Amino acid sequence: MRPLFSTMDEKQIRGQFRIRISGIELGKHCFSTSCTKEFFELAELDKVQDGSVDLRVEMEKSEKMVDFKCHFEGFVVAECDRCLEPVRLPLDFDERLVVKLVAEKSMAGENEDDDVWVMDENTYEVDIFHFVYESIALAIPLRIVHEDDAEGNPTCDPEVIARLDEMSAGKNEGGTDPRWDALKDIKLD
Ligand SMILES: [Zn+2]
Repeated sequence: MRPLFSTMDEKQIRGQFRIRISGIELGKHCFSTSCTKEFFELAELDKVQDGSVDLRVEMEKSEKMVDFKCHFEGFVVAECDRCLEPVRLPLDFDERLVVKLVAEKSMAGENEDDDVWVMDENTYEVDIFHFVYESIALAIPLRIVHEDDAEGNPTCDPEVIARLDEMSAGKNEGGTDPRWDALKDIKLD
């Protein structure tokens, strides 16, 4: 299969999430980037097909720590669990990542948590690509469906819903409920 991106494109996208922490002044540094369709294709998030999420980062560097306060705002497009058509899900949330800098090399990599990393104080840059896509993945609801309208009717693709109804009606042609048929096969001691 042909890769979706040339190596250069992938490098450029990943490069936006590698943040230099070495040799920068102590204090606050702000920057922003966006997670676009290409980002979501690289991240291979379950169900997410597309999206556009702006990421604003306020990074604060102190002697022994780098604190990333991240604000995510935008939307992703994911598959509806009911009709499989795309649903646009708005996102607007904050996440925080703390990188503790240690002199003891043996302690580096002993992360305290998903969002508390322990790194060698000589680390040149921090790669937040995984942190960013996992933050977005966690912000997406477990069940994705088109919302009901004001009258409480589903706004799913009506053609798909009609076909699904037909299929479940078809299963009943024998006159019995398939769920009961399944139960009959269960042997009770
Ligand atoms: Zn739907």
